[in-house]
Amino acid sequence: MPFDLSARLAERRAAHLYRRRPLLDAPQGVRVRVDGEELLAFCNNDYLGLANHPEVIDAFVAGAQRWGVGGGASHLVVGHSAPHHELEEALAVFTRRPRALLMSSGYMANLGTVTALVGQGDTVLEDRLNHASLLDAGLLSGARFSRYLHNDPASLASRLDKATGNTLVVTDGVFSMDGDLANLQALCAQTRQRGGWMMVDDAHGFGCLGAQGGGIVEHYGLGLDDVPVLVGTLGKAFGTAGAFVAGSEELIESLIQFARPYIYTTSQPPAVACATLKSLQLLREEQWRRSHLQQLIKRFRTGAAGLGLQLMDSPTPIQPILVGSSDRALALSAALRERGILVTPIRPPTVPRGTARLRVTLCAAHSEDDVAQLLQALEAALAALPDEEKSHEHH
Ligand code: PMP
Repeated sequence: MPFDLSARLAERRAAHLYRRRPLLDAPQGVRVRVDGEELLAFCNNDYLGLANHPEVIDAFVAGAQRWGVGGGASHLVVGHSAPHHELEEALAVFTRRPRALLMSSGYMANLGTVTALVGQGDTVLEDRLNHASLLDAGLLSGARFSRYLHNDPASLASRLDKATGNTLVVTDGVFSMDGDLANLQALCAQTRQRGGWMMVDDAHGFGCLGAQGGGIVEHYGLGLDDVPVLVGTLGKAFGTAGAFVAGSEELIESLIQFARPYIYTTSQPPAVACATLKSLQLLREEQWRRSHLQQLIKRFRTGAAGLGLQLMDSPTPIQPILVGSSDRALALSAALRERGILVTPIRPPTVPRGTARLRVTLCAAHSEDDVAQLLQALEAALAALPDEEKSHEHH
């Protein structure tokens, strides 16, 4: 046997890092049926509750009837349909950028963008807590790759001083495992001053931040000069699938010419673009979804702090409860599940060692009562764990 896979798997199991995929046997939502069990869920990224919106579903069905089910080819061959194009135009207006490019996933958008912009002789600087797809993109690009301290403009500045070639600075807008915001004004100022280009992946900010859901750049009022490369994903607050890159005419044309993960993949089904056009409209117009979400965030944070739980500095629907070790995170998640609540544990290597957590995510489809139920279950679950398992005694 050339590969000893069973030893690798056993090692992962022994380290409490083994992953399982909960099997949904009813639609995604606030109430889910997982492995045959009905649960109140706090772990999806459908932040505005649009994934099951009847108008979005209708747009998808009508789109499939008119355009069929498959994209049929890559965009450059014959897979670029009118709904894709219309969505790109709507996303350009939404992001206030000259142009936007639709991609089939956020992972690909990040790989494609970074590798199209920098290569050998260039430099890519990333926040050390960036999403895996951005870190992978930096490594794959062949550029000099370095990670600066989380959200630290001084640490970025010292790396910018040593940079060679074209320099791309890359950060999450909202950090996916912590929920905090990028310190964008300071990071952009350092980057501009030293002639770099800022790329922001705002997968978790679009829809949630900014009066119109325009994400972190709307929240801080940053324009094209501050953030020339802006990425968003459509599988989270938009409730559908895919991603986009927004920026100048030249940026988008360069991606069409040089971004291999864009060029060599089948376009997303046009019906998905039809659904996203509808969800984009709801996301912009239905401001109540954002304000209700803010209420839930406030309510959760106050209640969880009252229970002595260790929260992170997050104003977003991502509200992790820091637990520490992987086995404690698993035990707390299991204790919640016994009480009808689904919150998945997040463990290394997704997060740094010793920072395993329960990543609670809130959604506009949750009610105040749902959050109260989560808090009650947390209190009971903590009381039921053996003493050494109580998270708030371990940090
Ligand atoms: N960027 C960030 C910050 C993410 O959290 C994710 C998804 N987890 C992605 C990119 C990848 O997006 P997609 O799921 O569309 O591939």
